[in-house]
Amino acid sequence: MTRRGWCPTVFEPMQSGDGWLLRIKPRRARLTAADAAAIALAARHGSGTLSLTNRGNLQLRGFPAHGIPLAVNALLEAGLADADPEVERRRNLLVPPLLGLDPALSPALPAVIAGLEAMLADPLLAALPGKFGVLADGGGALPVGSERGDVRVHVIGQDAWVGLDGSAQAVACAALDVADLAGRLCRAFLRVRGNATRMRAVPAGQIFAAAGLAPSATLPRPSAPSIIWRTVGFAWGRLHADTLAKLATLAGEVRVTPWRSLVLPEAARDRDIAALGGIIDLDDPRRAIVTCPGRPSCRSAFVPTESDAAALLAAHRPRGLLHLSGCPKGCAHPGPAPLTLAGEPGGTYALVRDGRAGDPPLAIGLSVADAVRRLAYAPA
Ligand code: SF4
Repeated sequence: MTRRGWCPTVFEPMQSGDGWLLRIKPRRARLTAADAAAIALAARHGSGTLSLTNRGNLQLRGFPAHGIPLAVNALLEAGLADADPEVERRRNLLVPPLLGLDPALSPALPAVIAGLEAMLADPLLAALPGKFGVLADGGGALPVGSERGDVRVHVIGQDAWVGLDGSAQAVACAALDVADLAGRLCRAFLRVRGNATRMRAVPAGQIFAAAGLAPSATLPRPSAPSIIWRTVGFAWGRLHADTLAKLATLAGEVRVTPWRSLVLPEAARDRDIAALGGIIDLDDPRRAIVTCPGRPSCRSAFVPTESDAAALLAAHRPRGLLHLSGCPKGCAHPGPAPLTLAGEPGGTYALVRDGRAGDPPLAIGLSVADAVRRLAYAPA
């Protein structure tokens, strides 16, 4: 039904430790109450749980093989995936979660995003790898410019910059030219990539040259998120699909962020959100731990990350961000974290400081209790 190592979609489910999973890519980071209700119905053919991903997507989990077609039909009927599996596979476009809500975002951004959506649907880009993605930032209160994108677009007013992952160089242009330039860079990547699957694996100068572009500008530095718009987190980035539907009903819609959280545009009452398991307080210690599903949900995991995270928080309070990863792949937090505990064969953890889950560790063979002692966490 699917190839391992491939990025899952609605059409290409991935087998995991808790059954098959499907990935939903909300269009422009938005799910209406009707969308969320359709997701809840589809999820009933599986375990009903979903994970929020760091690309602003949802993973519906725990499907038996016979439940997949039923769920996929429900999602397609609701318009939650493109009808063309190849277009759906390439539809990896990260945008600010407050698009259309935040007046500080560039007014040109919706048209830029529409152009990028059409560009990614172009059959000439059929060979783009499944993980390949485009990022379009426009500032505002919740900018996404610090996240990864193989092609990186930044829009301020009517001005735009188009650059590549792994390089600060960019081509400055008018906002209406972004999709054309981004398409040229994607086609150039396909011509010169060899076996590379991500833009950063190819020298940026080679791609700009193959696209016939001379980068003479620098990508604007991403601004920091503001707390004016609060995000709602969930322990370990997991929630039940019925909860998603209830939150979307409370708020009219939800926005999905690349920080494994949601934004509720309408002022839902805090106590209603908390009653559904939403974490509003930015200082809640559950926000300090980022975990992937770990064992048994993921077949690659060496450790039960979620129960280990719960046990850690029951007794201790982490200082700063702690990434608890089921294996060195580090799916939940691909970038560097101040502290990472990455599962290793045998069910112990490797400790990495200021690095990624797969970076050389400071120590190996640690239990969670060993790590807590080493990190001198205060009691909860
Ligand atoms: S980091 Fe490893 S254990 Fe965790 S979800 Fe990814 S592959 Fe699975």
